[in-house]
Amino acid sequence: MYKIMTAGPTQVHESVRRARSLETTNPDLDPNFAEFYKETCDILQELLHSSGTAYILGGEGILGLEAACASLTEPGDRVLVIDNGIFGKGFADFVTMYGGEAVLYTCDYRRPVDPAALKEFLDKDSDFKYATVVHCDTPSGILNDLSKICPLLAEYGILTVADSVAGMFGEYLNVNECQIDILCGGSQKALSAPPGLSMVWVSDKAMKAMESRKTPVASFYANLLTFKTYYEDKWFPYTMPISDIIGLREALDRVRADKDILARHERIASATRSAVKASGLSMYPVDGFSNTVTVIEVPDGLTDSRILGTMRDKYGIMLSGCFDVLAGKVFRIGHMGENANLEDMTAVMEALDGTFADLGYTLKCSLKEAFIEAYEAVPDRQDVSI
Ligand SMILES: *Cc1c(COP(=O)(O)O)cnc(C)c1O
Repeated sequence: MYKIMTAGPTQVHESVRRARSLETTNPDLDPNFAEFYKETCDILQELLHSSGTAYILGGEGILGLEAACASLTEPGDRVLVIDNGIFGKGFADFVTMYGGEAVLYTCDYRRPVDPAALKEFLDKDSDFKYATVVHCDTPSGILNDLSKICPLLAEYGILTVADSVAGMFGEYLNVNECQIDILCGGSQKALSAPPGLSMVWVSDKAMKAMESRKTPVASFYANLLTFKTYYEDKWFPYTMPISDIIGLREALDRVRADKDILARHERIASATRSAVKASGLSMYPVDGFSNTVTVIEVPDGLTDSRILGTMRDKYGIMLSGCFDVLAGKVFRIGHMGENANLEDMTAVMEALDGTFADLGYTLKCSLKEAFIEAYEAVPDRQDVSI
């Protein structure tokens, strides 16, 4: 077994694995399951400060993104797709698939969206039913400031769909303050449950927009409206993956009990960035670094597959490569959720020292030493809470 220090899925704690193996009831027929499901959704709402309604969907993170677009888009709707990353741009596919007109707002993939520039754009054209935006665009490691972007869009009467699959629980996120209408999350990133579940947080405004559609949602599985009365009716649109949800609940309980989870992500990430910089390697983003993933350029003379292959085969650690426009150009360390700990990250840095030496590439200093030094220099903050 390799140690998975990838940008997701992340490592799963033993207690989550055990929870998933418990004996279960029939989730379609046992009213206790609807209670358990609702309690779990209530925790999701509480942790991300949402007064809307959270739902857990049986399907990997992508289902949440598709469900948001399927449920909101009617044929001919104009949708603003904020594109400063690969996942950002990807929303255009879901929009057009459901008959919408995707209008791309494309900006630099190495920087976060500049709210002032977005405002300038919106002053000229703001005729959009909703906009899509990604919190942490994982392939590039860019973190967009949803607390500025989503309220700005709301000022122009535009609903917001935000993908924080790889941000939430590693980065502070307040759904109410950000005025996000549909927030999308997944089980396998900072929450560190296995892949298989999507979570969505739906505002009352978004629910109303779905209810006042003129045409039916062109999907059953991706139709968020079908969940609306599950609790009153004790009925789900399809059989819920109960073992997955019991595991998710355990992962959420771990997050809730972990008082310095965000401070730890910040500390690990900033020490990683310091070490990368000191070693002479280059980070892909120039600004807006996410605390959940570090994206490093493949240096001249090396290839991603040689770096990743040596890390995996000689040192037993998996890191991520990339895809689409960044294929072959970067490699990524996922330090979110259960991966965000000093011991595992020290092992990654030590193995990278070894890998670069094995490949004949000279770093300016030891990544491991620079990492530990930077980690120790960061004050242990107790003042950030989820
Ligand atoms: C991981 C991730 C998803 C879910 O996609 P998969 O690649 O299928 O896991 C969606 N959005 C973002 C930003 C992600 O990082």
